[in-house]
Amino acid sequence: MSTTPPPAFELAGIRHRYGARTVLSIPHLAIPRGETLGIIGPSGAGKSTLLRLLQGLERPTEGTIDVDGAPMPHPVPLPLSRRITTVFQRPLMLDRSVRDNVLFGLRVRGIKDRAAADPLLERLGLVHLANARARHLSGGEIQRVALARAMAIEPDVLLLDEPAANLDPANVARVEAFIRDAQSRGTTIVLVTHNTHEARRLAHSTVLLIEGGVVETGPTAALFESPAEERTRAFLAGELVY
Ligand code: ADP
Repeated sequence: MSTTPPPAFELAGIRHRYGARTVLSIPHLAIPRGETLGIIGPSGAGKSTLLRLLQGLERPTEGTIDVDGAPMPHPVPLPLSRRITTVFQRPLMLDRSVRDNVLFGLRVRGIKDRAAADPLLERLGLVHLANARARHLSGGEIQRVALARAMAIEPDVLLLDEPAANLDPANVARVEAFIRDAQSRGTTIVLVTHNTHEARRLAHSTVLLIEGGVVETGPTAALFESPAEERTRAFLAGELVY
């Protein structure tokens, strides 16, 4: 008997429309548990829309999404939505200190010790901002606070929308090390990035989306080193202009 666990997500026959416009079309996609899937593609390709569907914030117009082998219920019940955490591109901060924002994540796990936030802040180079009002920070700082808050929850699934956009190289390295830690804990990660190098460094497999369609998907090394599709080669070479 097979003991292979079901994938964290399995999408079948997905089409998502806004009005008359189809913005996402994915015939089939499986995201194995504990793996990192990179989603690359130009702006407007449907990458963030895919994350919203995986978080259950929207229901696909057509098709099914199974989570751990069972159809995703709508509305998504709290125990399931807590297991899946998105770090949005422009995260919402509570109008409180940076530390309190991270503590919010820890409280979900029943940890009330205020000092517990500090190791997370330290790792992301935010300790000097612990008492600052989170809403007053720069975009790059807010993204890192949101990542610390998400990681504090220790979700089974982490959905990351451009986590290293707006960051200088030292902070890109911090964020990537943080993501690697989550990988080593077995977290399933979906990493949306327009930075193909980031997908190459972090993702086990990668999907190239263009205009809502899957151009190519496969193990990251194969997709980057020997793409099967001419459009993949051209996108990776920076030759596709949108
Ligand atoms: P990406 O993340 O790859 O930049 P998005 O998923 O944000 O792309 O958007 C895909 C397409 O869907 C874009 O053309 C965008 O304008 C459109 N879109 C996204 N959200 C909505 C919405 N709520 N209503 C209408 N159109 C939307």
